[in-house]
Amino acid sequence: MRRPSRKRQSSPVFRGRTAVAAATGRAVRGRTRSGATGRMWSDRGMARRTPRPARPQAPKDCPCGLPTPYAECCGRYHAGQAAPTAEALMRSRFSAFAVQDEPYLLRTWHPDHRPAAVDFDPGMRWTRLEILDTKDGSAFHTTGEVAFRAHYTEGGGEGSLHERSRFVRYEGAWVYLDAVFTE
Ligand SMILES: [Zn+2]
Repeated sequence: MRRPSRKRQSSPVFRGRTAVAAATGRAVRGRTRSGATGRMWSDRGMARRTPRPARPQAPKDCPCGLPTPYAECCGRYHAGQAAPTAEALMRSRFSAFAVQDEPYLLRTWHPDHRPAAVDFDPGMRWTRLEILDTKDGSAFHTTGEVAFRAHYTEGGGEGSLHERSRFVRYEGAWVYLDAVFTE
């Protein structure tokens, strides 16, 4: 289950960009990042521990883009309710990056891939999520996939991250497993 990402990391094609991302821990500004460089969402990219500024205030509108107030959308899951589908978990994890809810991100990460800590880049703001495709991940499934594009701003520039994430049920609850490279 872990092999695709491990193989990808060592692929010569991506070594350069991966090295850059690993060195900076930051997204490449203004450039769409593919699944291979999707380390903002992967274990290694978030694993550095640096001093963090105060968390942003809870937003009124949900960062995930659904036309629902945060408290009634992803905020419910951040508060402890279980996300019913893989897509709901994906949305809530995006929102958790936006509001910098580290405990939520860690507890919804499969233990095999979970980093020790989540490193929020203070210069980066997650602004918008597009769900592109979903596969399985309903109440009747034990696995699911969600393809998405996550938009951010950084240093006055804009960029986006394209990834297909895999989710599994772990002890009954949906958790993020890893990213699948789709290109
Ligand atoms: Zn939401």
